[in-house]
Amino acid sequence: MSKRPWGYQPLPERPDPSWELHQETQSVRAGLARSGFGETSEALYLNSGFTYGSAEQAVASFADEVDHYVYGRFANPTISMFEERLAAIEGAEFCVGTGSGMSAMFASIACMVKSGDRVVASASMFSSCYVILMEILPKWGVNVELVESNDQKGWAKALSKPTKVVFIETPSNPMLDIVDIKMVSDLAHNVGATVVVDNVMASPVLQKPLELGADVVMYSATKHIDGQGRVLAGAILGKKSYLEEHLSQFIRHTGPSLSPFNAWVLVKSLETIGMRVERMSQSAQKIAEFLESRPEIKSVRYPGLKSHPGFAIAQKQMSGGGSTIGIEFNGDQSAVFKFMNALRVIDISNNLGDSKSLITHPASSTHRRLGPEVLGEMGITESVLRLSVGLEHSSDLLKDLEQAF
Ligand SMILES: *Cc1c(COP(=O)(O)O)cnc(C)c1O
Repeated sequence: MSKRPWGYQPLPERPDPSWELHQETQSVRAGLARSGFGETSEALYLNSGFTYGSAEQAVASFADEVDHYVYGRFANPTISMFEERLAAIEGAEFCVGTGSGMSAMFASIACMVKSGDRVVASASMFSSCYVILMEILPKWGVNVELVESNDQKGWAKALSKPTKVVFIETPSNPMLDIVDIKMVSDLAHNVGATVVVDNVMASPVLQKPLELGADVVMYSATKHIDGQGRVLAGAILGKKSYLEEHLSQFIRHTGPSLSPFNAWVLVKSLETIGMRVERMSQSAQKIAEFLESRPEIKSVRYPGLKSHPGFAIAQKQMSGGGSTIGIEFNGDQSAVFKFMNALRVIDISNNLGDSKSLITHPASSTHRRLGPEVLGEMGITESVLRLSVGLEHSSDLLKDLEQAF
């Protein structure tokens, strides 16, 4: 068998910079662990298992006495690079990558709750998050209560009783409802709750829930983190104490693991996430303003518009309105479908946060599962479209929308 014939030599240690690196620098540098080959780019370790130099080393590795990778369900070097990089961008003590956004959302809550516990959540959310909270967890004896995103009194009332977990999705998908993360976190901590934020719609570029007082952040990395429509993935970030007390064992044994290949795609995607999300958010702001001026449109939901009921809070906790716009038409479903079918650049698709602009009819697709009553409560009527603004030139997108009208 060959014995490292190609000049494999562990690289000499280099001291860390003595100053704090900016997010842009972290996005291309954090977590980079080069092998003895000295490769420039992050390596893809597409392996499920690991070998040991001796039986004793295997024992010590399993006993956590030495740092040595053991098994792909627990950790892998490429996955670690992605996790370290995202943790550095988020400003979190740890990050755990998962196979999808939903496995991240489920694990982040399921690892904490038992029968009889109480969970409080914001009422507007992605349909699968709703199913986990309102159908799956109650089956196991967990009590879940919903509060309208901007109902300050409702939050104060719901969080006057002992609560295990508070789950908030802000902005929400697809209506971009805003929850005051700091206000809810303060109330939650008074009753001993752990605050989990679904930060998918803002991405780590535009909103930092941990700085605002939240305890845990979760992502669908399928959205802006990949941002180029290639892989399904998720991530959970927060404090080491939450990882050690709750999450670590749950993840190890239930196995919602991220694929090393997907982690490799994502570690490269993170290099450009700042540029992508900022550009998408700037274009979305222009498009939201344009849509608001159109007679065909009844209302535009975008956190960067003064007309948004959560505008003041969004200004406080987000550094941009994001890439997604909720649009309510004056016409019925057939008028809305006619508009979608007339688009020449923007694609009809159910994804978001992609470099390609995508338009969705949530009531009949992404949120269909919720049924008419819940959809009505969330304001997702048959006249609502969700536009995810991509990286095309904003004037091409404006022209496309204009000609479709
Ligand atoms: C897409 C999405 C999820 C689920 O992520 P997947 O990667 O599709 O599993 C969760 N929350 C929000 C807000 C989303 O938009």
